[in-house]
Amino acid sequence: MSLLKVEGLEKSYTADKQILKNIHFEINAGELVSVIGPSGAGKSTLLRCINRMVEFNEGKIMFNNHDVGNLNKKELRNLRANIGMVFQHYNLVPRLTVIENVLHGRFGYKTTLQGLLGRYTEAEKERAFYLLEKLGIHEHAYKRCDQLSGGQQQRVGICRALIQEPKLILCDEPIASLDPNSSKVIMDLLKSISTEMGITCLVNLHQVDVAQHYSDRIIGLNKGEIVFTGTSHELYEEQ
Ligand code: ADP
Ligand code: ADP
Repeated sequence: MSLLKVEGLEKSYTADKQILKNIHFEINAGELVSVIGPSGAGKSTLLRCINRMVEFNEGKIMFNNHDVGNLNKKELRNLRANIGMVFQHYNLVPRLTVIENVLHGRFGYKTTLQGLLGRYTEAEKERAFYLLEKLGIHEHAYKRCDQLSGGQQQRVGICRALIQEPKLILCDEPIASLDPNSSKVIMDLLKSISTEMGITCLVNLHQVDVAQHYSDRIIGLNKGEIVFTGTSHELYEEQ
């Protein structure tokens, strides 16, 4: 079943430079798809168009049977609730604890200067703790995020994306700041999120070998144009 369909997508930030040109692809529910390509190819812009962090100029994006380019305010909130984001630099709030960062992803920033955790219900905290346990970082739940390693922080970032129970997570270079061991942990987790939880993952990567190892399908992007779509095996045959 198609979860995301992109047709004739075009994007430019300025009149003199087109960033994405005539992009077409479709992703089925539960797939892990990688977008590969050199820096500046437009990978990040592509992900940002899908949840309308940036506005696109032409084309059509259908997500979960909703026309992404044509949503009212409530529908846009719904869209964003259905799409989790994971970033290269984790984008956590450093002075908050791990569990607060995760809760923040779903239930908003219920903060005063003190007693942040007290403002969430037990059920909300249980759900956050459950996800931390699933991702193997529950023993750090009450540490400040800035005391964790990069790989641990990225696991918190993934928990924060998952707590809103999204249908899709968009991961923008999730392992670009990590060492090979942590990268493997994160990619293994993304794989199991797609295969076991059935959550679709669209992942920007610049390492072709990692993309080939983990992806159901790969989209190759260069200078804003799709230069390849196919399975890992098909990419291997082409090289
Ligand atoms: P990638 O993720 O593949 O490195 P990006 O989507 O980040 O590619 O960038 C593609 C091009 O778009 C680059 O030339 C970049 O400078 C340009 N770009 C990205 N964001 C903006 C912006 N907010 N305003 C203007 N140009 C931008
Ligand atoms: P609403 O719930 O906003 O009245 P629908 O009844 O059409 O809209 O929603 C049907 C399903 O689609 C719900 O599961 C809802 O969460 C989801 N949904 C609604 N709007 C969007 C959107 N813009 N993007 C993705 N999914 C959406």
